[in-house]
Amino acid sequence: MKKTISIIGSGFSALAASCYLAQQGHEVTIYEKNDSIGGRARQFKSNGFTFDMGPSWYWMPDVFERFFNDFDKKQSEYYELIKLNPAYRVYFGIDDFISIHDNLEAIKSTFENIEKGSGQKLQSFINSAKSNYDIAIKDLVYRPGVSALELITSKTILKLNQFLSNVSSDIRKEFKDERLIQILEFPVLFLGAKPSKTPSFYNFMNYADFGLGTWHPKTGMFDVVRGIEKLALELGVTIKTNSPVEKIIIEDQTATGIIIDGKKIKSDIILSGADYHHTETLLEKQHRSYSETYWESRVFAPSSLLFFVGFDKKIENITHHALFFDVDFNQHAADIYDNPKWPDAPLFYANFPSKTDETAAPEGMETGFFLIPLAPGINDSQLLREEYFAKIINRFEQITQQKIKNNIIFKRSFCKNDFVTDYHAYKGNAYGMANTLLQTAFLRPKLKSKKVRNLYFTGQLTVPGPGVPPALISGKLVAELIQKSLRS
Ligand SMILES: Cc1cc2nc3c(=O)[nH]c(=O)nc-3n(C[C@H](O)[C@H](O)[C@H](O)COP(=O)(O)OP(=O)(O)OC[C@H]3O[C@@H](n4cnc5c(N)ncnc54)[C@H](O)[C@@H]3O)c2cc1C
Repeated sequence: MKKTISIIGSGFSALAASCYLAQQGHEVTIYEKNDSIGGRARQFKSNGFTFDMGPSWYWMPDVFERFFNDFDKKQSEYYELIKLNPAYRVYFGIDDFISIHDNLEAIKSTFENIEKGSGQKLQSFINSAKSNYDIAIKDLVYRPGVSALELITSKTILKLNQFLSNVSSDIRKEFKDERLIQILEFPVLFLGAKPSKTPSFYNFMNYADFGLGTWHPKTGMFDVVRGIEKLALELGVTIKTNSPVEKIIIEDQTATGIIIDGKKIKSDIILSGADYHHTETLLEKQHRSYSETYWESRVFAPSSLLFFVGFDKKIENITHHALFFDVDFNQHAADIYDNPKWPDAPLFYANFPSKTDETAAPEGMETGFFLIPLAPGINDSQLLREEYFAKIINRFEQITQQKIKNNIIFKRSFCKNDFVTDYHAYKGNAYGMANTLLQTAFLRPKLKSKKVRNLYFTGQLTVPGPGVPPALISGKLVAELIQKSLRS
């Protein structure tokens, strides 16, 4: 039966869910608080530069393809992809960097040149990662997190021990060169926790990295938002921006509508793609499924300090994606997770999309994005932001051996306070709740409210977790759950 469904937010999970729900025949409207769609993957343009505000690594292309295939479409009908080579470069100091190429054979020989015997070990490690990837995609991540039994299949049972060990110790058993170790630990950082707290099974992210490669949508990650928006509109979804939801109306333990600008909008079903914690604040206390103590005790993915920078010249000695691991990785991780504080010596990530996409910057210029991961909930001020910009730009100049400070013609920062204001992010988290052992699958906040009928959740704080591919999967899972509830 056709239902009226209101969706809060327009991030990837909400956009994906809207497509599936419209495909089921419902009347679907998205209400987004900001003036543009895409959530953390928004884009802005200024002075001729184009900036993707959040995700920049397009990994797991199979998940995007599967999403479009669900609507009898192909990803290539909506945007074009370019495979990056090198995929990325990791800097460890002046004249000390490792480039990761776009195929495993080349990566193996890079490893072998650095540590004798590590090429073969890498092959075995990636074989295990691929086996886990196949199981994760086939048997695990497309499960709604309703029950522990979802994790028990003939294949996963053989892998149970991999939930009791961690990625970091596995890597350290096989590899000795600290630089190779850091490169192998990097992919699981996308899951939001320290590698030493991430179950070994999640090494499937290493297969996503070295096996499936790093891709770039031709004119930036926002191509993907635009592509899914186009599909949603084709399916009949209505999208309203500048529409912050102020309250979810509950009558008789049932969600019956939302309030925007003081006006009631009646709906049969409410689905929130906004941060889970924030959504619950739109409810009276007795209708919330999780307490403040619950949220306080969870491990959140880091917040971040971001800089969007326009340079009036081309930047040398740099690749599209660049990781600056020239300082102590473990100390920075401790400053995020163990003893939260601004790191004395921050690791940082930079990307220059105009290296691949000439439309991202005016001719002869460069678009730069810089990211420092920080503890969620950290104090944030303009002074600290500038202090840290100076730190990383000085290091950038030293390591890449060039002067760039005087070539900055545009700069905008974005940090914890902006994550809170712009996205209602709990503690200003950048990418949701971490995937640790105790926050995996059925142990994550539920897609369906435990207290209120017809109220559902999707996105990076619920299953399967942080990242763009999981957000698309989350949208599918919740749409299936809604369909199942309507049938029963
Ligand atoms: C800096 C950064 C870098 C990242 N890098 C990568 C990467 O390289 N690769 C990758 O795969 N992932 C990356 N991620 C993670 C990825 O972007 C997210 O996991 C994903 O986009 C989250 O989607 P979502 O739908 O869960 O939530 P969101 O994108 O946060 O969407 C939630 C939406 O709800 C809206 N909203 C909130 N409250 C209300 C309200 N009351 N009324 C109406 N609307 C409301 C918000 O404005 C927002 O639009 C990155 C994230 C960040 C921030």
